[in-house]
Amino acid sequence: MKVLRADKLGFCNGVERAIGLAENALERKDKVYSFGPIIHNKEVVDRLAEKGLSTVESLDQVHNGTVLIRSHGVSPQVLAAIDQTDRELVDATCVLVRRAQDIVKQLHEEGYQVVMIGDANHPEVKSIIGYAPDVIVIDRPQDLDRLPKGAKLGVVVQTTHSQKQFGEMLGHIATRPFREIRAVNTLCLEVARRQEAALALCSRVDIMFVLGGHHSANTQELARLCRAQGVTTYHLENWGSFSREYVNGHKTAGITAGASTPPWVIDEFIKNLEAL
Ligand code: SF4
Repeated sequence: MKVLRADKLGFCNGVERAIGLAENALERKDKVYSFGPIIHNKEVVDRLAEKGLSTVESLDQVHNGTVLIRSHGVSPQVLAAIDQTDRELVDATCVLVRRAQDIVKQLHEEGYQVVMIGDANHPEVKSIIGYAPDVIVIDRPQDLDRLPKGAKLGVVVQTTHSQKQFGEMLGHIATRPFREIRAVNTLCLEVARRQEAALALCSRVDIMFVLGGHHSANTQELARLCRAQGVTTYHLENWGSFSREYVNGHKTAGITAGASTPPWVIDEFIKNLEAL
């Protein structure tokens, strides 16, 4: 089978940095605790767990060790709680998430009602909205009913959303009579580049494989964009989830992968697919 690889795919700078910081910490300390899975990829989480990285959901689960904040960041309240425990802290918050946190804080200080376009349950969104009180998270046009009428809005967006989603939601907001709308683009360029490369590939293949964890927001978004192009698309974690019947009747496959998908997963998948 002919296999084409997207020009840009897999690990982003933020994820590579977080894994590097975790590995450094594990060389120095026996035990390192990550708040939530370090990235949305089971293979990477399992590999680091073998070296001593524990995934925890609360500080109560942290005993004598280093606390690692993953690339999604945490709210200032969680940071303050870690500070109080006197544990060593390794902060792997991505610089782009940090930027969004700073912007939210600044918008609030300038008197804007801060609005974040994104998934309210996503850890990155939870960390960013902690930087101002009463941030309203919206993700669908009907969510606009929750915005105060006539307000002065300061709008940011989840880093992993697409430019299209951001633009569409801003368009909906603009149809309502808000006093002022100030939008700051907090999208991640790394994610946008993977999306553009995947869309370019869709026109050259008859089936797309999107590799990455099922909880990874940017991988889900890649799959959604490819499907919207009308190309048969499978979102798989790795070669282990592949089935021969997927490619029956197809000649050229395109491969893309989310920002948390490691290179060895991509390489193994391509090698095996080419051998079919
Ligand atoms: S996807 Fe973008 S925002 Fe998220 S960790 Fe990677 S570089 Fe940072």
